[in-house]
Amino acid sequence: MEKLSPDTIIGIDLGTTNSCAAVAFGDGSVKLVPYKGGDYIIPSIFAIDDKGNELIGHEAKRQWQLNPRNTLYATKRLIGRAPRDEVVESVQGSVQYQVHAGTENDVEVDCHGKAFHVHEVSAKILAKIRDVSSDHLGFKVSRAVVTVPAYFTDRQRQAVKEAGKLIDLEVVRIINEPTAAAMAYGIGKKLDQRVLVYDLGGGTFDVSIIEIRDRVFEVKATGGDIFLGGIDFDNAMIRHVLDDFQKRHGIDLSTDPVAMQRIKDLAERTKIDLSARTEAPFSIPFITMTPQGQPLNMEVKFDRKLLERLTQPLVDRSLKILGAVMVDAGVSASDIDEVMLVGGQTRMPSVQDRLTRFFGKPPSKGVHPDEAVAIGAALYGRSLQDNSDLKLQLLDVIPMAIGLEQAGGAMHVVFPRNAPIPNARAVRATNSVDQQTELVVRIFQGDQPATSHNELLGEFTFSGVRPARPGATQLEILFEVNIEGILTMSARDLDTGRQMKTTVRVSAG
Ligand code: AMP
Repeated sequence: MEKLSPDTIIGIDLGTTNSCAAVAFGDGSVKLVPYKGGDYIIPSIFAIDDKGNELIGHEAKRQWQLNPRNTLYATKRLIGRAPRDEVVESVQGSVQYQVHAGTENDVEVDCHGKAFHVHEVSAKILAKIRDVSSDHLGFKVSRAVVTVPAYFTDRQRQAVKEAGKLIDLEVVRIINEPTAAAMAYGIGKKLDQRVLVYDLGGGTFDVSIIEIRDRVFEVKATGGDIFLGGIDFDNAMIRHVLDDFQKRHGIDLSTDPVAMQRIKDLAERTKIDLSARTEAPFSIPFITMTPQGQPLNMEVKFDRKLLERLTQPLVDRSLKILGAVMVDAGVSASDIDEVMLVGGQTRMPSVQDRLTRFFGKPPSKGVHPDEAVAIGAALYGRSLQDNSDLKLQLLDVIPMAIGLEQAGGAMHVVFPRNAPIPNARAVRATNSVDQQTELVVRIFQGDQPATSHNELLGEFTFSGVRPARPGATQLEILFEVNIEGILTMSARDLDTGRQMKTTVRVSAG
């Protein structure tokens, strides 16, 4: 086996529920990094126990039921989010830990009396993956390709990079999860195919249409919902059993954190069971007491049909997004050569059945739904290394339009949705106020015509504008989106050619 050098770039799939790492070798082979008992998956969970010990991964998951308020899971749904976001509110409704506005116009979560920025929690999980990988590989891993949902905004991508910085892990490149999966599928096969990746993981849904021509991977269109995943399937079941219990016993269990944790655990296990069987009992002994002190059990008859009925709206939502992405790419079902399934939730038979019906053929079995993303990230990492024998070309797109705010709050689109990246565009601007020396530009990401419905990426202040009469200064603002989907901006005076002074980026708020 080839000896790897310490500057090796590993691949990390930083998932909502589970994370996974892999490393690629010069011959194109890939190894997943095993964790203790040979498991390749590290739960993306961080906790602090009552003695103040930090627990990450399996250790954190093991004590989850007993310590639900100090066990942080699915925090990826909150990364790079503004505090007023509706998403934050709805996450708070389904988790036992506290979520609140942070000091950097972001979201913070509480654990054992301490507030953490969400990207700090991601950093803890990344550090664990890095350490496990270092132990396994025999050198300190310091560089990685990290994957994110294709539907992540610039802000969310920046937050993942920040997480790497906090622990001295160089995030060499951020790539999209479906694109990584397509690489895992396509490399070494000399393909000429158009594939559709349907990626339904623990917390997010992505769909991408990708053309593979040997070692070139060109994304034609992408879409998704970073609020649609396995957790929502669990939540649909949880709502059902809570209602059922309330009807039978008149007791609302949703305010009892320990009961809720037991229900959550069993909901996920039952859901997974129902992918293999058609019936599963949902029973939890002694879940609570009557006001008279009598113990009560939870007993619900669950079968696959009921699960399908409860979760059909979620599958419908994913198919609606899929349809829109196909329209964006200008393709119909028969133009898709292979449908690839990624993410644990795609193991649900009804998800596969619906896709089979939609495309008139069953999805490909060509990739492992849990491992493909880390494998693709590792292969891409390899290709980024100096003197790599494996050269891959990746042509990706931005998932949502990026633009600036015009007077009145309208969105002036600079890059439309699905614009290829890397990309650069220049926009002309002028001074509107007499003798103004600063130009402030507010940048948004989203597909709505009004900026108030899109995500504020930041406010850029360009100083050093030449004072003049209104309209006399001609400025050019250059927008650049790199291959990672991350935006940078600069501006210059068109008459003098002078570059405006430092670009200050104020985080959204
Ligand atoms: P991922 O983030 O890709 O690991 O996806 C994890 C999600 O897939 C979780 O919500 C799991 O509950 C779900 N999942 C894993 N295995 C199965 C299965 N056999 N059937 C249904 N859902 C599953």
